[in-house]
Amino acid sequence: MLYQRSSQLFADAEKVIPGGVNSPVRAFKGVGGTPIFVKSAKGAYLIDEDGNRLIDYINSWGPMILGHAYEPVVNAITEKAKLGTSFGMPTQLETQIAELAVSMVPNIDKIRFVNSGTEACMSAVRLARGYTKRDKIIKFAGCYHGHSDSFLIQAGSGALTFGTPNSPGVTEGTAKDTLLATFNDLQNVADIVHFNKETIAAIIIEPVAGNMGCIPPAAGFLQGLRQLCTKNGILLIFDEVMTGFRLAKGGAQELYNIKADIVTFGKVIGGGLPVGAFAARAEIMDYLAPIGPVYQAGTLSGNPLAMAAGLAMLQALDADAAIFERLDQKTAYLEKGIREALSKNQVGFTVNRVGSMISVHFDKNPVTDLKTAANGDNESFKKFFHGLLQQGVYIAPSAYETWFITDALTYEDLDFTIRAIDEVAKIL
Ligand code: PMP
Repeated sequence: MLYQRSSQLFADAEKVIPGGVNSPVRAFKGVGGTPIFVKSAKGAYLIDEDGNRLIDYINSWGPMILGHAYEPVVNAITEKAKLGTSFGMPTQLETQIAELAVSMVPNIDKIRFVNSGTEACMSAVRLARGYTKRDKIIKFAGCYHGHSDSFLIQAGSGALTFGTPNSPGVTEGTAKDTLLATFNDLQNVADIVHFNKETIAAIIIEPVAGNMGCIPPAAGFLQGLRQLCTKNGILLIFDEVMTGFRLAKGGAQELYNIKADIVTFGKVIGGGLPVGAFAARAEIMDYLAPIGPVYQAGTLSGNPLAMAAGLAMLQALDADAAIFERLDQKTAYLEKGIREALSKNQVGFTVNRVGSMISVHFDKNPVTDLKTAANGDNESFKKFFHGLLQQGVYIAPSAYETWFITDALTYEDLDFTIRAIDEVAKIL
């Protein structure tokens, strides 16, 4: 396949947009080459500017769970747009989507809509701090909660010491309130809590990590966090930006039967438009302005087009009792195919999967946290990525990303993909 026009468009973009992209991972830095510019998409397929058709395994990094240009969502947006695109005033639509979200997700009474997953997590942490009157948070190395300052902290000289910023522009002052823990290591979290008694407002976690590849929580890990939080007056924040409305109607809370205190959403909840949300029981949510002291706001929050798209998406998921089972089965089929193709060709690998989140790590040892995720062989990943791209299969251009399976994929698409993987495996 040729990508001439994409290359030209990227060169044009680089002149006026830093790195040619509006979000870094799109730039193919991890895999080399130039990014694919999309012209259109429908169902499970992307059509790029060179006219190539690609089977899409990232699906806008999660939102397009029912496929691209899903008709009920497109219709809802189109109809709403004719009635005005933004008012900065309340609309009935906001209550409708809020009612539906609250009915689908366990343990929440109220929800507030924002414009991105970043905003949702940033606001959730502020709310937790305001509610508990404590400053520190625990986050896990390798978990991503958006690009707000307190989350851009990497593991430094050990989890019991202060974090260090890993982006210029994040101050030491901010970094010191983010304590880093190791995913799937309950004792490590317990130690951090012990050494920082009564100063920790919240533990924020991706209940299924998706930003160091896909890493499931070990048995008992989330339960352990829940107990630790309850015992120490700490709020447990589940960042369900990836898992929400994807792993189950009620997300990871439902799947693992764990109550979080605050839950954040993004991706699927907006049906492909820029939407995030955070939710909790009323007692916590009522700490927010205008009735509570914790300030949070947005000119475009609850935007009618975004709410129309989100509502149409949630209605579709709510109405389809078999959707999550079907996604699980399709992804299990893909997993089996990947395992067979890679094993047959003697490639060292680990596949992690929860429902319709799956990733392939090029290391044969178990991948359970950031350290083990970093052991993956990036040269193999690069060949894998470009080999698949040449055959018309688009996976995320980074070894640290999860694939998001869409219900628009047919078993023929999956078979095509497995054959492509089989071909590529021969050269790894
Ligand atoms: N949390 C998680 C778990 C995410 O995966 C992401 C984005 N990939 C975010 C938060 C941030 O969301 P956004 O990019 O919409 O700001």
